[in-house]
Amino acid sequence: MTLDSIIFNEVTLGQMLSWLAAAVVLILLYKIYKFLFGKKKVNLQHTVYFACSHCGWEGHISKFGTRCPKCDAPAGDLPGG
Ligand SMILES: [Zn+2]
Repeated sequence: MTLDSIIFNEVTLGQMLSWLAAAVVLILLYKIYKFLFGKKKVNLQHTVYFACSHCGWEGHISKFGTRCPKCDAPAGDLPGG
């Protein structure tokens, strides 16, 4: 079987492979997109309540966040941090 073997109708193995490659690339791009932008849901288990003593901003920030999301002041008074 060569790349010019006809699979069905006029479609050759080479064409099939290029379609498959295109499909795989599309799927990979979709997965990468989901991986990069699909995590917008904030998991409250990993957030802590924080009140900024600098600008007065209050809310939940990431447990691993170290700065106020509003004024960028260091959040040094985080519980446990
Ligand atoms: Zn602040």
